[in-house]
Amino acid sequence: MTEKIVLVNEDGIRTDGRKLSELRPIKLEVGILSNADGSAYIEQGKNKILAAVYGPREVHPRHMALPDRALLRCRYHMAPFSVEERKSPAPSRREVELSKVIREAFEPAIFLEKFPRTSIDLFIEVLQADGGTRCAGVTVASLALADAGIPMKDLIVACAAGKAGGHLVLDLNDIEDKEGEADIPVAYMPSFNAVSLLQMDGLLTIEEFQQAINLALEGCKQIYALQKEALKAKYQAIKESTEVTEEE
Ligand code: UDP
Repeated sequence: MTEKIVLVNEDGIRTDGRKLSELRPIKLEVGILSNADGSAYIEQGKNKILAAVYGPREVHPRHMALPDRALLRCRYHMAPFSVEERKSPAPSRREVELSKVIREAFEPAIFLEKFPRTSIDLFIEVLQADGGTRCAGVTVASLALADAGIPMKDLIVACAAGKAGGHLVLDLNDIEDKEGEADIPVAYMPSFNAVSLLQMDGLLTIEEFQQAINLALEGCKQIYALQKEALKAKYQAIKESTEVTEEE
């Protein structure tokens, strides 16, 4: 018989030492790839994810071009070494689904109509996965889009909440995602108080569902503040380096 994993101990502490409504430590960096128009990197707990953006640029193949707006394309991909058991580099059904829902999460935020007949290509590369990669992927992709200068109504930020070990928890890690009772990833546009991605796995009561959504949105708001700081840090660094050059 397999032993049941204790996801939350009697002090309300989770397997990675977090409290129930605590995010994993997050590190964000903007503009790290010189060959993409925009790029960003996120570490959220053990997740390590890169995002790169090209565009707006000419569409290939040309027949895919849209006369009235830009074509947004998204590829979410997990590196073969990103998970415990080697993953085939070929796109899985899961990756095809995640690419679609992430693209749809961004469509309401980007002023696509400003760039007819062009494409905006968004690449999300998961280098190391530990649960919640679609949310961390959205958070970092938003920064890469902003870094590429793509005009957006707001940054999109994403975070999951759910239930593990009988408790509502924020920002589920891999073991909580797999062994827990429910997982609700949410992508959010804070300035509009609007949700652009909502999925759910597992079983919750309506009350728990409402509480979990509110918890996820609280997490999103905290990450949104970090996104803005990361963007400011990049432009502060550019400002400082140009000031030094001017002085010289
Ligand atoms: N995972 C894995 N192998 C795979 C796909 C996923 O080990 O082929 C792990 C990975 O850690 C991932 C987690 O399962 O983060 C949860 O996957 P899910 O489909 O729920 O997406 P996510 O929570 O990453 O958005």
